Amino acid sequence: MRYDYIDKYWSKFGNDGFKRLVNEGYNCKNTNYNYVPTFTGPGHAAIFSGTTPSVNGIVANEWVNRETSKKVYCVFDNAMNSVGYNSDAGKMSPQNLISSTIGEELRKKSLNKSKVIGISLKDRGAILSAGHNATSAYWYYGPSGNWVTSTYYMKELPQWVNDFNKKELAKQYLSQQWTTMLPIDQYTESDADDNECEELFKGKEKPTFPYDIPALMKQNGELALIRSTPFGNTFTKDFAVETIKNENLGKGSVSDFLCVSFSSTDYIGHQFGPQSVEVEDCYIRLDKDLAEFFKFIDEWIGKTNALVFLTSDHGAGEAVPCLLKKNIPAGVIDEKAVSDSLKKFFLRTYKDSFLIAVSDFDIYLDREKINKKNMSVANVSYKTAQYLMTLDGIADAVTATTLDGEKNFFTDGSARDAIRAKVRMGFYQNRCGDIIFVLKEHWLEGFHKGTSHGSPYSYDTHVPLLWWGYNVKQGSSNEAITITQIAPTVSKLLKIPMPSGCTTKPISSLVK
Ligand SMILES: [Zn+2]
Repeated sequence: MRYDYIDKYWSKFGNDGFKRLVNEGYNCKNTNYNYVPTFTGPGHAAIFSGTTPSVNGIVANEWVNRETSKKVYCVFDNAMNSVGYNSDAGKMSPQNLISSTIGEELRKKSLNKSKVIGISLKDRGAILSAGHNATSAYWYYGPSGNWVTSTYYMKELPQWVNDFNKKELAKQYLSQQWTTMLPIDQYTESDADDNECEELFKGKEKPTFPYDIPALMKQNGELALIRSTPFGNTFTKDFAVETIKNENLGKGSVSDFLCVSFSSTDYIGHQFGPQSVEVEDCYIRLDKDLAEFFKFIDEWIGKTNALVFLTSDHGAGEAVPCLLKKNIPAGVIDEKAVSDSLKKFFLRTYKDSFLIAVSDFDIYLDREKINKKNMSVANVSYKTAQYLMTLDGIADAVTATTLDGEKNFFTDGSARDAIRAKVRMGFYQNRCGDIIFVLKEHWLEGFHKGTSHGSPYSYDTHVPLLWWGYNVKQGSSNEAITITQIAPTVSKLLKIPMPSGCTTKPISSLVK
């Protein structure tokens, strides 16, 4: 979710969702990510650990393992198994997360009496937000339409989760049409519905309403399709309410902590882009889900007994064809093209390829091969970085050796240094590549239609941060806040230790 959606869709929101948080709570209007890449895994880790990938180790959704040269998923754990389904897809845990989280500190302080639970359609959204030592984390398994977990948390699903799964709500939600909530001519904040910037569902000729979901299911992942509809958020809200009720959250002698990540916003955002009627409709519907959720919390324990914060794991760029149409410089670069071009560069320059992989914005070199040839990894990296900067769409490239402090990293105190500072905050030795590159503004990796995120630019870093409930006064601020200030603020409000890697200050206006 981009920050500007709050203003953009304000007149379309009801009084009890986003508006309730703004009108009764505190709005940190200028909250930004302070590292790259702005992706889901790192975003969830940073929010709940109060530190950047350079410390918490979650440098991307996946990175390359130096020993095996294979990609590692950020929450993969081979020692674990699926619970609730027969598939390897549940080999998950927070083992790659190096820092502690808010929930973990809460559990420690309460001698494990506090319950800490993460919920998200995405496994990484549930696992990284709950952290180590969590009571549980539940995510959505597309092939079965069920909420599941891994053996890291438990051997069997609780009976209430099985009962909830038996209701087959995903199937029910997917049996309806996706039409616009309001008459379509009222979507005045968005571009025309029929739009060449948007990615099509398979089997549909135009990216336009109404979406006949039952007809689209077969070609679009069956029950997994719920992720790409606003019903995925409603389904998440249903499960969150069910969790609070069955785990009796908030009613014991200690605080409990529930992390809910609404992920359909991201799937719909990728497919249609921020200018689309689909994204606007997704947020209008999410606003209603939030309104119901807050109403439930209010009735369950009362607003003053609950502390709520709402933020996002990243923003989003605009779809490239949309920008080009408006005469705004933009472009798309493909991972494969970067990889092919680098291989040719290596053959030309060194008569041998040193490339292991291009993974997002990281280039991994074969250090062993370079060393065997009595060459210096630092020099090859530097030359590679220089070459990368000649490619169309690349704004900057920094080597691991400079990030490591061997060479002068900051140059002239320019705005580029601020970008490089974000690269450094996202850099963790031996998980990141030998060279990290930064795309030019409005350039995307791979998304010729629809959109993505990951950059250090404000459209990806500027996110909402709303506070509501326990000890939160009504107000707002334009003070610059970093995403890593959320965790110490929650810690201060709950009177628990800050997460282990956290070095930032709480937000002063909230903890005064
Ligand atoms: Zn995304």
